[in-house]
Amino acid sequence: MKAIITGGGIGGLTTAIALRQRGWTYEIFEAAPEYKAVGAGILLGANAMKVYERLGLARYLEARGGYLKQLYIKDYKGNILQQIDNNMLEHSYGNRSLPIHRATLQAALLEHLQQPVQTGKQCIAVTESANGIVARFEDGSEAEGDILIAADGIRSVVRENYIGSNGYRYSGQICWRTTVTMELPPEEQVTTAEVWGRGNGVRASFMHVGGNQVYFWFTKKLPEAAVFSSDEALALIRRELSGFSGYMQQVVARIDPALLIRSALYDLSPISNWHKGRIVLLGDAAHATTPNLGQGASQAIEDAYVLAECLSHTSSYPSAFQEYTSRRLARTHKIVHTSWQLAQLTNWKGSCAVALRNFMVRRMPAGMTKRQLEFLYNAGL
Ligand SMILES: Cc1cc2nc3c(=O)[nH]c(=O)nc-3n(C[C@H](O)[C@H](O)[C@H](O)COP(=O)(O)OP(=O)(O)OC[C@H]3O[C@@H](n4cnc5c(N)ncnc54)[C@H](O)[C@@H]3O)c2cc1C
Repeated sequence: MKAIITGGGIGGLTTAIALRQRGWTYEIFEAAPEYKAVGAGILLGANAMKVYERLGLARYLEARGGYLKQLYIKDYKGNILQQIDNNMLEHSYGNRSLPIHRATLQAALLEHLQQPVQTGKQCIAVTESANGIVARFEDGSEAEGDILIAADGIRSVVRENYIGSNGYRYSGQICWRTTVTMELPPEEQVTTAEVWGRGNGVRASFMHVGGNQVYFWFTKKLPEAAVFSSDEALALIRRELSGFSGYMQQVVARIDPALLIRSALYDLSPISNWHKGRIVLLGDAAHATTPNLGQGASQAIEDAYVLAECLSHTSSYPSAFQEYTSRRLARTHKIVHTSWQLAQLTNWKGSCAVALRNFMVRRMPAGMTKRQLEFLYNAGL
């Protein structure tokens, strides 16, 4: 059996690796003309690392990423609001969360493919017949397979043309990300904090992602069309973070404005229909989320594993798609929903509202925190 995969992001690449291990053949098509080293980092949750463990990639990635002992949410004065012990995650769920440079992750996944990605192939149309499915690309070429896995991201053309959606939701926040080349002091290398400012979506974080690379990100509530030059964006970041305690200032001082990547943070209004005929959605194409739980890519990675598993134990793709959807839908919807609520919580403004917000997060009952960790990291795969 052969799958056509449209989209060579984290979801598509992981799917290709997982499918191959289950005896499927695939062809994978990416719209971008070439892969570029993405200048940002990512936190792969312990749940995503469980998948990479099963695919035989965990040690390879760990050797190239950072090593975190503690992950915090703090207020800008340095008070701890929430804390996750990465050793505890490993002990309880078998794997640690891994901070890694996106370019390193991308290169590792590309290296482990059996069939290279065909770049410069933007899928523009799909035709189904009784015997298979044909994807057509902007350059006039075509590819044929038994099924098509649409891993083409939040703005999925395949989803919009053949399945439909309920549209996108703007979280109210713009994010700037970058990586900085610097040596962090040893104690800063093994911890990371998402630091919440005085409301209005202001948050920032940095984390060691391997080598001498430090991933930095910053968010603020702004109109989605707000335009900033790179220098203006850096000036805004410096201004907003000027009162932040800890090592943040040293990292900010080293940011090269030309390397800042701007993203308006959207999610996909949840949809329940993930497949039609021989087409199935995966990753952000199915359930794009705001990054507040750091789970978007981790969920795409889980999808990849589950879809490959479902396809491997039946020759009927409709029942495999049905099983995949029923195993994934409730979990991903809950993540999208919780992440959205968190984004809105960080948008609160005014000193009373912010004090209440921080109090609520700091005093979250231990049982609730434990249930949330269990939900996020014990994916039941
Ligand atoms: C600021 C920010 C921080 C984040 N941090 C984290 C984090 O720490 N941890 C985490 O787990 N997640 C995080 N995420 C989410 C994560 O980046 C996404 O969930 C993840 O990249 C989704 O992977 P994907 O493969 O489904 O989609 P994408 O990464 O969007 O990949 C889709 C691919 O398809 C290609 N494509 C698009 N259209 C077509 C077409 N028509 N034909 C062919 N190819 C096409 C695109 O070029 C792209 O390469 C973050 C997101 C943001 C915005």
